[in-house]
Amino acid sequence: MTKKTIYLDHAATTPIDKKVLKEMIPYFSQNFGNASSLHSFGQEADQAVEKARMQVAKYFNANLNEIIFTSGATESNNLAIKGVVKAYYKKEKKKPHVITTTFEHHCVLETVKKMEKENLIEATFINPKKDGVISVADIKNAIKSNTIFVSMMYVNNEIGTVQPISEIGKMIKKNNAKIIFHTDATQAVNYFDCNVEKLGVDLLSMSAHKIYGPKGVGALYAKFGLNIAKIQDGGAQEFGLRAGTINTPGIVGLGSAISMINDQRTKNNMQIQKLRDYLIAKILKEIPDSRLNGSKIKRSPNNVNVNFSRVEGESLLMMLSQEGVFASTGSACSSGSLSPSHVLLALGLKPEETHGSLRLTLGKNTTKKEIDYAVKVIKGSVEKLRKVSGNVLRDFYLNNKK
Ligand code: PMP
Repeated sequence: MTKKTIYLDHAATTPIDKKVLKEMIPYFSQNFGNASSLHSFGQEADQAVEKARMQVAKYFNANLNEIIFTSGATESNNLAIKGVVKAYYKKEKKKPHVITTTFEHHCVLETVKKMEKENLIEATFINPKKDGVISVADIKNAIKSNTIFVSMMYVNNEIGTVQPISEIGKMIKKNNAKIIFHTDATQAVNYFDCNVEKLGVDLLSMSAHKIYGPKGVGALYAKFGLNIAKIQDGGAQEFGLRAGTINTPGIVGLGSAISMINDQRTKNNMQIQKLRDYLIAKILKEIPDSRLNGSKIKRSPNNVNVNFSRVEGESLLMMLSQEGVFASTGSACSSGSLSPSHVLLALGLKPEETHGSLRLTLGKNTTKKEIDYAVKVIKGSVEKLRKVSGNVLRDFYLNNKK
């Protein structure tokens, strides 16, 4: 008999939707043409890519020539930041100022830090407030005469807090219409309005594998006329901004996945949020010394991030995994390292306070029964770990007693 598995790690990745997979399959073997080829095989692939571009553009309320397909949000974020800075340098020949936050995904944070280290930009990193939300006034106060770019995530991938993107968009345009505003919407697309006009963004990054689409494909919305340069050389694909053979099956999957969100969003959000609140309440009630990280209100419908004092998060994860409950301590990309989460540190937690954190992210197929089982397993594991750490502390005390 296969062991029961409960997947509560949808912020790391989602399973591909069966309908999405079905639409992708012909483009692997049957209609395998290169979308840049001029023969009919190529043209068929090209038509499929353009249909997907239409589906993505519709979701973001963008034009077709404003959607650039990439290999995922990491690449979209790199292209957005490096592309804008590179184009600015070419034109202005001086060092620009960039604003971002301290709790971005590593692909934004490391890009900005590296460019700062290489003396290409001046950078300001804004801390969120204790509740995991960035203040509009803090961004406003950081703007300088040479600020050209603001990059801020829409929903934080670890604690699920939602940032006031449209208010910041309005404030930036009022302050200095020339400043380019980018949002990493990877964790938002499934749950929140991503109409680029309403958000007031010039650039928006997203990834298919967070929305029940395939891995290795994503998109960057780049407002028409924006001064942005390519960052990799080769062919002229994607309006000359992204060289490389077009990933037709992946792009078809992205288009299919995004077109399904519109029909289902409100219903799914309500169902997931109800379960999320049930899960939060159950953990806080049944497990002593537990605390929710980040705002309860300004939070993605699928995210629960809780801290258990006197528990090591990685040990907890291992125990849960043995019982078939799959979760995460922070973002999947950074787990594997035992350094404290940069997101929790940004909230003002001390390193020792970040260790017992657990991220549980629900999906559209998560059930109440699964939540009940998960809480039972989490409770038992936390109790066991606390007993062990209690014994270790006692032994340490006894061994060191004179
Ligand atoms: N940004 C955020 C907020 C994310 O959650 C992720 C994925 N963990 C990424 C960027 C990177 O996305 P991808 O896996 O498509 O490169």
